[in-house]
Amino acid sequence: MVRDVFEKLKTLQDILSGKYEIEREIHEIPRALSTKKEMLTRLKKSYLEKNQLLEDAKGRIKHLKFLLDEAEKQREGYEKQMDIINTQREYEALDKEIKTATERGQQFRKDIIWEEKERETIVFSLEQEEKMIREQEIELEEETNKIKSESVQKEELLKELEKKESEIIPGLDKEIIFKFERIIKNKSGLGIVPVKNSVCTGCHMMLPAQFVNTVRKGEDILFCPYCSRILYFEEEMDEAVYNDEDSGSLADLVSADEINFDD
Ligand SMILES: [Zn+2]
Repeated sequence: MVRDVFEKLKTLQDILSGKYEIEREIHEIPRALSTKKEMLTRLKKSYLEKNQLLEDAKGRIKHLKFLLDEAEKQREGYEKQMDIINTQREYEALDKEIKTATERGQQFRKDIIWEEKERETIVFSLEQEEKMIREQEIELEEETNKIKSESVQKEELLKELEKKESEIIPGLDKEIIFKFERIIKNKSGLGIVPVKNSVCTGCHMMLPAQFVNTVRKGEDILFCPYCSRILYFEEEMDEAVYNDEDSGSLADLVSADEINFDD
C-alpha cells in the first residue's frame, strides 16, 4: 500500500522536476532576449553619439576653411598694397602683415589636415559600428525566432507533463503532495530519497536508529527531519554495500565509512 505510494511519488518526482525545469526555462527566455536588446540599444546610442562627433568635426573643418580663405584674401590684399607704398616704414609694416596672414593661413591648413584625419577616424569607426549593429539585429531576429519555436515546444511538453501529473495525483494525500511539490521545487528535483546505511541520501545526515526502523517497516510516509524529503528504505542497495565491499561506488564507501565512524 505505502509501497505503491512510494512508486507513485517517484514517478511524480520525475514529472514535477521536469515540469519545474521547463517552467524555469520559459521564465528565463525574456531575460536572454533582453540582454541582446540592451546591447543593441547601447550600440545604437554610441552610434548616434559618434555621428554627432562627425557632424561637429565637419562643422569645424568648414569654419577652418572659411578662416583660411579669409587669411588668404587678406594676404592677397596686402600684396596688392605693396605696389602703392611709398616709404620704407610702410613697406615694413605691410611686410609684417603679409607674414602674419601667411602664418595664420599655414596654421589653418595644419588644423584642417588634423581635423580631416579625425573625421576619417570617426567615419571608419562609424562603419564598424554600423556593421556591428546590423549583425546584432540579425542575431536578435534569429534568436527571437528560435526562442519562439522553442517556446512552443516547451509549452507542449509542459502540457504533456501536466496531463501525466493529473493522472498520477488522484488517490494521493493532498497535504503530502503539497509538501512534496515544495521540496522538489526547493531541493533541486529530489523529493523522495532512499535511506541507506541509516543515512538520508538526500542530505547525507545520519538518522536515529529508531526512526530508521520505522522507515524500514514502510507503514507510513515519513519525512527526513533534516531536509524534509520523503524517505523510503532500500534494502537491496543497503545489503549490497555490506556484502560487496570491493565493488561499491565511492559514495557507498563514504557512507559505509561514516557509519563505522559514527558507530
Ligand atoms: Zn534528509
